[in-house]
Amino acid sequence: MKPPAFQYHAPRSLPEALEILNRVGHDAKVLAGGQSLIPILNMRLAAPGHLVDINGLSELSFVRTDVGGVRVGALARHSEVEHDGAAHSAVPLLRQGLRHVAHPVIRNRGTTVGSLAHADPSGEMTAVLTLLDGSVELARQGGVRTVGAAEFFVGPLESCVEPGEMAVSAYFPRPPERTGTEFVEVARRHGDYAMCGVAAAVTLDEDLRIVRARAVCLSVSPVPLPLDLTEAVAGAAFDTARWDAAGELAAERIDPEPDIHASADYRRHLARVLTTRAVRAAAVRGAESAARPAGIDDDTSDDQQEGGHR
Ligand SMILES: Cc1cc2nc3c(=O)[nH]c(=O)nc-3n(C[C@H](O)[C@H](O)[C@H](O)COP(=O)(O)OP(=O)(O)OC[C@H]3O[C@@H](n4cnc5c(N)ncnc54)[C@H](O)[C@@H]3O)c2cc1C
Repeated sequence: MKPPAFQYHAPRSLPEALEILNRVGHDAKVLAGGQSLIPILNMRLAAPGHLVDINGLSELSFVRTDVGGVRVGALARHSEVEHDGAAHSAVPLLRQGLRHVAHPVIRNRGTTVGSLAHADPSGEMTAVLTLLDGSVELARQGGVRTVGAAEFFVGPLESCVEPGEMAVSAYFPRPPERTGTEFVEVARRHGDYAMCGVAAAVTLDEDLRIVRARAVCLSVSPVPLPLDLTEAVAGAAFDTARWDAAGELAAERIDPEPDIHASADYRRHLARVLTTRAVRAAAVRGAESAARPAGIDDDTSDDQQEGGHR
């Protein structure tokens, strides 16, 4: 299958890219890793007149960790984010989510920011950004704006990026002290998009009692759905809490649609079971992080998943 004809642009700098995007406006698509866009073009689901290939913008190829969190540039590949040790220590949910994104070979090329811009409600990174209350930085000629996750995702495959704009980075804030996170999902085959997935974060107090429990479900709503589940488990000890009550609450709050992959009932069942698992595991990680001396990293077990990335 071949894409419809388009004019190809290969800017060498961000100002040049923004000038082209400004000039061609709504008729342009940014080409990052191409792992979603190229299949869409080949299937003729989109026919932009111009492709602006940002792979020459090496200044956007970065993963930077600071005291507040992790900033990911628009050209950082999923695998670079996944294997960045400082990013993992600061925001473990990044690696926990990324290891579910497709296969290593796709993660070697696909970009994390491209995945956000693509705004697939089954995309793991949409749930990660939402759970962490992260943001995306959008640039246009003569200006930059920062959009929080709650406003960034507008609908299925629709983000708030306007014609003439491009996403230059995403920021994933570091979770509060004594917070553990986990990402679980069910897909028909390893590497497929999930029928349902859950990102969870649980914050404990100094006595390891639950202060806050939150989850974001994917593949059950047009945009990632944040759920505050605290009321189901607040005040309980992390190891004896009724986590199934949190799963039940999540199942009550979602309204999934059936499709060719799963019925609405099955997705609701998955949301219940996966939320229970995710919040329980997140709480255990929160307790482990409380017990760990400062400066010692999170577990390294994720490193062994799927071997290397090159
Ligand atoms: C077989 C297969 C399985 C996959 N499985 C999963 C999965 O399980 N989970 C998952 O999340 N993803 C999955 N993906 C998609 C993968 O994660 C993509 O890398 C990602 O969705 C898009 O990133 P990209 O860099 O390839 O973007 P591209 O394909 O280049 O672009 C995707 C869209 O985002 C826009 N865009 C990209 N970058 C920017 C930017 N900086 N500013 C503005 N707009 C931009 C493009 O114009 C386009 O509309 C899969 C892909 C394949 C081929």
